Order: sequence, then C-alpha cells, then structure tokens
Amino acid sequence: MKKRLISGVKPTGDIHIGNYFGAMKQFVDLQNDYESYVFIADLHALNQIHDPKKLKNNILEIAKAYISIGLDPKKVTLFRQSDVPAVSELCWIFNSITPLGLLQRAHAYKDAVAKGKNINAGLFDYPVLMAADILMYGADVVPVGEDQKQHVEITQDIAQKFNNLYGNTFVVPQELILKEVSTISGLDGRKMSKSYDNVIGLFEDDESLKQKVMSIVTDSRKPEEPKNPKEDNIFALHKLFLNEKELLNLANRYKEGKISYKESKEMLFEEIKTFVAPIRAKKKELDGHPEYVVEVLENGKDNALKEANKTIEKVKAKVGLKIR
Ligand code: AMP
Repeated sequence: MKKRLISGVKPTGDIHIGNYFGAMKQFVDLQNDYESYVFIADLHALNQIHDPKKLKNNILEIAKAYISIGLDPKKVTLFRQSDVPAVSELCWIFNSITPLGLLQRAHAYKDAVAKGKNINAGLFDYPVLMAADILMYGADVVPVGEDQKQHVEITQDIAQKFNNLYGNTFVVPQELILKEVSTISGLDGRKMSKSYDNVIGLFEDDESLKQKVMSIVTDSRKPEEPKNPKEDNIFALHKLFLNEKELLNLANRYKEGKISYKESKEMLFEEIKTFVAPIRAKKKELDGHPEYVVEVLENGKDNALKEANKTIEKVKAKVGLKIR
C-alpha cells in the first residue's frame, strides 16, 4: 500500500518560484509514489482576503497552476479545503484540546505581532486548521517549505495529544523539506514572499519578469571585480535552474571577475523564461477551459469527502459526540 501525502497552497495571490521549488515541485515529483491529496487552502486565505471576487479568481488560478505544473488529476485528489465541511468541525475539536501557549509560540504569529499587523482569530488559529487538514486524511508525509516546519510540528503535537486523550486515532505525520531549496530567497535576499513584495511569479509575462530579475539587489562590485557567488542573490536563484557543471563554471566566472551582475541577471532571465515556457503554455490552454478545471475540483471533492467523512465519524464517536 502506498503511503499518503497531503499539502496545500493558499490562494492569496500569484504562485511564485518560492512556492514552486520549495513545495509544489515535490507534489509533482512524488505523485507516483504516494497516494496524494493536494488542496487549495481557501479557508486559510479567508483570514487575509476579504474581497470575494479576488478570492474566487485566486482559487481558480491555483487550480490551474496545480495542473499546469504537472499534477495529474487522475493520480492526485485535487480539491478545495472549503468543499470539506468536516475540516472545520475537526478544527473545532482540536481547538478544544490545543494549549494556547502552543499557538502563541508559532513563528508566523509572532512575526505578525512583531510587524504590528492586524491579527484576526483565524490567523492565530491557522496551525490548528492546518492540523485538521493534515490529520483528516491520515497523511504520512507533508511536503512543505522550511517556513512551515513548525506548523507541521504543531500538527504532530495535536495528533499526539488527541491520541493520548482518546486512544490511538491519528497517524503522526512527518514534514518533507528539500534541504537544498528549503527557503528560496527573493529579489532583495529575504525569503521570497508575497508579503515582502519580492517575488518572481511563475506566470509573469516576459516584460515584468525581466524587470524583476534586473532589479535583484546586489552589492556594488564592478564587472571586472571578483565576486562571491555564495553571497549573491542572483547566484542563489541560478541554483534552481542550472546543473552542477554549469553552476561550477558560473561560480568560477564570479570568483575570477569574468562576469558582471548585469550579465548574470540576463542569463537568469533566460533560464527562468525557458523553464516556465511549458508551464505557461499549459496554463494558457486551461484559461480557455474553466469548466474542465471546475470538473477536476468536483471530482476531487467527492474523493476527499469520502475520506473526511470516515475520519470525522470516528473522531466524533471517540470524543463522545455520538449518542447512538
Ligand atoms: P503559502 O503561500 O504560504 O500557502 O505557501 C505554499 C507553500 O510554499 C508552503 O509549503 C510554503 O512553505 C512554501 N513556500 C512559500 N514561500 C517559500 C519560499 N520562499 N521558499 C521555500 N518555500 C516556500
């Protein structure tokens, strides 16, 4: 029997190459090895997006992105989080056993507090809903970027807590983080993130792609000066697209002062353009067939509901919410 995999992406804006290389590529690479559930985290997005039109559009865009990067709806259950009402029920049951301190220690929450953001209860409770997403489908592994590691650990804590209180019920899942791409940096060298406005979108048009790549922050070394590839934001992104030999060659040119940052950026632009071309073409095709995308999500919903309903019935019986 294949092990199970679950993961999701929030429909809060365009997919960027940090999402792709940090997490989504793993969904594609592992789809033959695991029984996979990949969802659109639309309930999670609600704590950020309060514009219904935008949310609706973003949901469809993520669905298209999943298929465009190569997820095969025949192999993977592709679905929307909000299509499974039991996940909100499970979240409430978990809320009732989750210590407040566990959530107060979450980096993402602490970061939002530090930045003085307007924090709603949904954002604070995010890790508990995430635990419900994962444990609902009995997932063994959760492919994510490094930034989600702590949230998966909170899921592990909640699973153990529930199992201790009510008897063995949930599989305790493991995160899957690709070490070499655990955190992709953005145009300014910080973690690539929509909230830092430093992202390179997967579906960006050439003009905007070029403009973004040319704006990558570097030091002020002149073209003929030796440069340190390890400290350069452009070089960090080349690593996603070049093979070992090409990287070694480029690193030598850096060290010997045989390449300017401008030239390195122009090379990177070409690499990204070549890489995204087939993904963009597939997306364009899907743009013309929204009914197919909706159908994929409907099929996924049926599959996900079957699993989720089994779990929630079992959980309700365990906690004492079934009287017959
Ligand atoms: P989100 O946009 O928060 O739903 O992220 C979707 C997935 O992309 C999660 O697994 C994140 O860990 C991953 N991710 C987001 N940004 C990055 C980044 N800069 N580097 C690596 N992974 C990332």
